[in-house]
Order: sequence, then structure tokens, then C-alpha cells
Amino acid sequence: MRSARAEIALAPDVRRVREDFPALRQTVHGHPLVYLDNAATTQKPQAVLDALMSFYTRDCANVHRGVHLLSERSTAAYEGARETVRRFLNAADTREIVFTRGATESINLVAQTYGRANLRAGDEILISGLEHHSNIVPWQMLAAEKGASLRVAPIDDRGDIVLEEYEKLLGPRTVMVALSHVSNALGTINPVRRMIEMAHRVGAVALIDGAQAVPHLKVDVRNLDCDFYAFSGHKVFGPTGIGALYGKARLLEAMPPWQGGGDMIRSVTFEKTTFNDPPYKFEAGTPHIAGAIGLGAAIDYVTGIGLEQIGVWERELLAYGAQELARVPGVRLIGTAREKAAVLSFVLEGVHAHDIATILDRQGIAIRAGHHCAQPVMERFGVAATSRASFAFYNTRLEIDALVEGLGQVKEIFE
Ligand code: PLP
Repeated sequence: MRSARAEIALAPDVRRVREDFPALRQTVHGHPLVYLDNAATTQKPQAVLDALMSFYTRDCANVHRGVHLLSERSTAAYEGARETVRRFLNAADTREIVFTRGATESINLVAQTYGRANLRAGDEILISGLEHHSNIVPWQMLAAEKGASLRVAPIDDRGDIVLEEYEKLLGPRTVMVALSHVSNALGTINPVRRMIEMAHRVGAVALIDGAQAVPHLKVDVRNLDCDFYAFSGHKVFGPTGIGALYGKARLLEAMPPWQGGGDMIRSVTFEKTTFNDPPYKFEAGTPHIAGAIGLGAAIDYVTGIGLEQIGVWERELLAYGAQELARVPGVRLIGTAREKAAVLSFVLEGVHAHDIATILDRQGIAIRAGHHCAQPVMERFGVAATSRASFAFYNTRLEIDALVEGLGQVKEIFE
């Protein structure tokens, strides 16, 4: 075990890192911005902004079809970004990386292709009580269409999935398991490797929603042995409107396409269309070329800092934040899982989460209030909403101090 001090020595130089993020330099309502809403979306480093600008000012052309130089450059940059995503996830082949609009679209793609082709009436889809709506609703829709049923593994009072219950719910009817790697509402890091192994034992296919994992953890899809892995670019310091789906090559090959259009075909006549190979089979129409290139730049930026270093600093922020919040009378943390990413969800006695967020905003502090697109999690803890501070590697202890001070002012107003 490394000592705490040795760990801190490994942390990124936060002051220098912050200079890479123009948005962090602004003031809000006359106060320096304290941005603690990173689970909703992250700010973008200059390297990402430069990549977008460079594409639109120099290389803007459609991909795959042109023979002119700009099209060659744009195709090379787009496919280069696919290779960057492959390396980031440690997938075996770029054929396994499909660009999508984000985690939501990646999950819907799997539900509507793999799911539609493989589910029968009476089959079961197993999710957990921690899921974001985007990893609930697509499965509910599929289950309704197919006469299948949705089963839900419960969570305990800390916000951990109850593994024994999860295991009991797996059975010969389980065709699909869909689990978040990290919970957006509580920060719980799920033991997905073990859970995937259990799913495979009953012959189910496992999709992991990695939207909240990739900004914080080193993900290795081959080590996890997941069948599908979904994430969004904007949560990992990239542009909005772009994300990716990893799928094992043999599954993607066997799956029917989802949307029809240009690029996803090999040949078209009015009688018959033959489809392209993965990943293009799943990328109908002009893709978000600039977005993919921006995502590649974001991944290069994050890996340049190093996810291990990021983890060290974020664990420090999480521990400090939990300790300082606990000092505020009336604050109750929601979600105290054994393994957590840098998310602190809390309620403050007698004050609605929206009032907290509004008052903090007047002090330049951006947090999120609400159900975090995870209403079943709120229900499980008997609250309508929580306030959520979620950290990235560019956050500081001073910003946590500002949050705690801000909460003090909230209390003064309501006392
Ligand atoms: N899954 C989780 C765990 C999330 O936190 C989110 C977004 O908050 C999503 C999926 C959906 O991501 P997007 O809206 O980028 O598709």
C-alpha cells in the first residue's frame, strides 16, 4: 500500500491543469466559478477546442466517400479518433468501436438490435436499482415489445448492489444484463467484472453503462470481458453529441443494423440492400466528425494526465469533501458505498435541493439538484431529490471549502 503522502505526490498539478480550461476562468454572479457539476457534463480543455477549430477551419469535408485531400484528412482524423477510443478502452480491434451520440444512444442501439433480435416472450432483462433512466427505459420499451420482463437487483442502505440478490435473479431466462459501472446519483463503483462473470455463467450477455466511469477509472473491456460498453464524450472532457459503443466483434457482426442510410451499406438496389461491416453498419449517415475528433483529443488529454493520477486526486477530494460536508449540521450524505467515485449526494434538513442549488449559484457555485435521472434511486432512499457535488481532477480543496461556506449561508437564510 502506498502511503497517503506518497499518493498525493502522484496527483496532477491542479493549478497548472486548470489553466487548460478556459471556462474555469470566468466569474459567475461576481464570484469565481466553482464548477462542481461534472457528473452532468465536464468542461473542455483548450486541446479539445483547438481540435474542433482545426477541423472546421482546415479539414472540413465528409468522411469515407471523397477522394480529395480535405476528405482524406477528415477521414484520417475521424478514423484516428476511433483508434484512440479503442486504445482507451483496450478493445482488440477498431471494428469494435461504434461512434454514437452518447451513452443513451449506445444503449438504445443495443436494445434495438441485439435485444430485438435475441429476446423472446418470457425472457428476462436484469438491471440494478442504481441505474440512470437511460439504462432503464430502453430495456422497459424492449421488454414491453417482446413480452419479456425487467428484473431489478436491489441496493442496500449504503448504495451498493446486493450481490447475493443479483446472483439469485440470474437464471436460464436472463438474456441480457445491463449495469452501470459507476452510479451517477451516488457515485457507487460497482464490481462489474465479477457481475459480468456471474451473468456469463447463465449465458447472458452483459452491457456496461460506463458514462460515469471513463472520466475516473481506467477501463479495460477485455479484462472486464463485457459484451458491450457504452459511454459519452461530454462526460470525459470531450464535445457533446458524441460517444461510443464498444461491442465484441462477433456480436456486432451477427447483429442487424439499426438505422438505415448512407455509409451503413455495401450495395443498394430497389430489391435488396447488403450491409456494410461493423462498425460502419451501425453508423448510418454523416457522423459527428468534429465530435469524434474532439473526443479523440479529450482522451489524449486525459490519458496524458493519467487516470491513475486522476484517481489519486479525486479520492483525496472525495475524502475531504465527505469530511467537510459531515461537519455541516443537518447534512446527510446519500450514498456511502464501499467504493465510490468523486460524487457527493446529500440532503440538508429543512431545505429543498433546488433552493440549495439556487442559493449556491448566486455565489458562483454550480452543483446539481434533482433526481439526477435516477428516480428509482431517490425512491429507494425516500427522498424526492438530492443536491449533488461531483468532482473532476481540476477541482480543488478550496472549492470544497467554498461549497461548505455556501451551505452555511443557505442555512442562515432558512433558519
Ligand atoms: N448513464 C449514466 C450513468 C449517466 O450518468 C448518464 C448521464 O448523466 C447517462 C447514462 C446518459 O448519458 P448521455 O445523456 O450523455 O447519453
